Amino acid sequence: MEVIHVIYLDYSATTPVDESVLNVFIESTRKYFVNPNSAYPEAVIVKNLIDGAGERIRSHLHLPSHEVVYTSGATEANNLAIKGLAFKRKDIGKHLIMSPFEHSSVTACFGYLQKQGYLVDVVNTLPDGSVDLDDLASLMRNDTILVSICGVASEIGILQPIEEIARIVHQYPNAIFHSDMTQAIGKTAVRLEQIDLITLSAHKIYGIKGIGALLRRESVKLNQMIHGGKSTTAIRSGTPALPLILSLEKALDMITSDLPKNYLHVKKLHQRLADGLMNIEGCFINSPLNSIPHIINVSVLTILANDMQKYLSDHGIVVSTQTACASGEVRSEAVYRLTKSEAKARSSVRISLSHQTTEAEIDQLVKAIKAVSA
Ligand code: PMP
Repeated sequence: MEVIHVIYLDYSATTPVDESVLNVFIESTRKYFVNPNSAYPEAVIVKNLIDGAGERIRSHLHLPSHEVVYTSGATEANNLAIKGLAFKRKDIGKHLIMSPFEHSSVTACFGYLQKQGYLVDVVNTLPDGSVDLDDLASLMRNDTILVSICGVASEIGILQPIEEIARIVHQYPNAIFHSDMTQAIGKTAVRLEQIDLITLSAHKIYGIKGIGALLRRESVKLNQMIHGGKSTTAIRSGTPALPLILSLEKALDMITSDLPKNYLHVKKLHQRLADGLMNIEGCFINSPLNSIPHIINVSVLTILANDMQKYLSDHGIVVSTQTACASGEVRSEAVYRLTKSEAKARSSVRISLSHQTTEAEIDQLVKAIKAVSA
């Protein structure tokens, strides 16, 4: 297959697989093919390897009392957290709260539950896109069973005040806090232990597509979403996929230990990009200051998002319009909500950076945006 050489600036959509992660996957696929649920000694070896990987994942994330429930990715983890919890607690309450910047795999679950008779509130946000904590406190009720707020909004990069949100939610004994941390983990240092249910995905952290996880505080019970035979957990059935599990552990190991160094690199690139874009007339950075440096949402008012994406693509530069999962729609609702500007919402593109991004790539991007804006 042909290798594509482009300036890839869409790391929030997905990341290239790290070679050492891939090697863990390949080697363990060759070496350990037996089913860990079998009784013979070879199966026990595989089961022990899975248990060890789970321990290390908990340790990388500083979550000693959360269970690792392996899923096919963040979409499934979000479905399990939201529907699994809502169904489990339906006799306690049916009130749910989310933020307006959630991924489609969260909003779709909330929409589905609304049709099943659950009541959904969307918390207000401040001008910088962060959750209005006073509004959250005023929405909370004794029958609130779930608050789902992502750590980092995928399209704009806003970092939410997770610890303050957790503190408010936990004043209500029936309420559980779920956070989709897919865009946060491995990028910025966040304390996770206050979150009851945490979603993550391997392919956003240089891992392999097809595995993610829901980290579940052990006291939080969920209804099963995938029924069947034995797995690593009672909550999600299916033969445990050792190579994928080991590869997820490896990806988390690397991304968490390299985080401080990678963060500084990306922050520098972000500054270089912001400086470059500031000199372009009609160009606006939509991502507020409380965004992670990895995501910069940008509008050049005279150019529609799809036209900008195509121009850049024709010049060998890959960025995204809205999130990869929602492309095709015309206006970015997230950007519109944040900026209240129809023009910005129709012209916004997301540039997402990585520790693998170079200064030369940033300069090429700025040059191309300048040329198309002239
Ligand atoms: N949540 C967020 C915040 C995301 O950015 C994504 C990927 N676009 C997902 C969930 C879905 O992830 P996956 O592809 O692993 O299902």
